[in-house]
Amino acid sequence: MEHETVTHTTAEHRLARLPSGTDVAVTVHRYDGGAGPTAYVQAAQHGIELNGTAALRRLHRHLLTADLAGTVIAVPIVNSLAFDHGSYVTPQAVDAVNPNCNRVWPGDETGTLQERIVARLWELIEPTDVVIDLHTGTPDMLEHVRFQLENRKSRTLAAAFGADYLLTNAPSDGEPDDGAADESFQGKLRTAAARAGIPAIVPELSNSRQIDHDAARRGVRGLRNALGELGMLREEPEPTPSQTILRNDEGRIGTDASGLFEPNPDVTVGDRVSAGTELGTVYCPSTFEERQRVTTTDAGVIYSLTRESVVTAGEKVACIAERA
Ligand SMILES: [Zn+2]
Repeated sequence: MEHETVTHTTAEHRLARLPSGTDVAVTVHRYDGGAGPTAYVQAAQHGIELNGTAALRRLHRHLLTADLAGTVIAVPIVNSLAFDHGSYVTPQAVDAVNPNCNRVWPGDETGTLQERIVARLWELIEPTDVVIDLHTGTPDMLEHVRFQLENRKSRTLAAAFGADYLLTNAPSDGEPDDGAADESFQGKLRTAAARAGIPAIVPELSNSRQIDHDAARRGVRGLRNALGELGMLREEPEPTPSQTILRNDEGRIGTDASGLFEPNPDVTVGDRVSAGTELGTVYCPSTFEERQRVTTTDAGVIYSLTRESVVTAGEKVACIAERA
């Protein structure tokens, strides 16, 4: 087999200027392996989501000596403002209107700081052939890869990544046309990419707020599998496990009572449950009285379930997804 030499470069890409005069910038890695597609990979749009960044460091080591066809562009930390503050969103001090980076794609060069930052990043993304946007969820959420419903390539890539669960929206959510069907999907990178005709996947690795070595390893394995599927890495993709496709994770179950929530020890994320399954109980911490037994309203798969915690009435404690 013929081995191309990968040319690796890094560049600081200036995105915006803060009131103090300090620049907001990202480090952009470019791995050039000659002819082939261009894949754009990024992590940490949300500042507490560290395992995508950890996966990209492992991918970096691999790509330097890999047999690469095409170009990989990687941005390990998209949102340095949130990252440096250890927060999920961008500090309100610099953008109170659009603190969530993943709600303003493809950005606006005349908009708020966050919109301007995203507009500069979009310039990098728009010419590429595929987008992989790495996120991490809470420890009590199923690790999964989200794909664009109407995009066959996105679905194939999501499957190749190799997570046990794939997630998409219900057809009524209207991707990629999007629009009025569901406001909550607007401004996400995968939606903006869909509109621009770019296949995108969103791996949601486990465990925000900490480096989880297993999650990082699954992340880099998934990235290599996806690049293999694209024909960019000439290596055997790992066999895909039997995968469950879920859709519509918006089946939120909230509490009607405030207090201490204790989940039912007999249920766990990934369980298939029927309507009326007990998910946990809210107790009053002062009087010890049982305030509410929280049950499922519909059948489905437990997609997330809050651990032992203080809850306020109306707060989400679980999500139930449908099997597609
Ligand atoms: Zn995220």
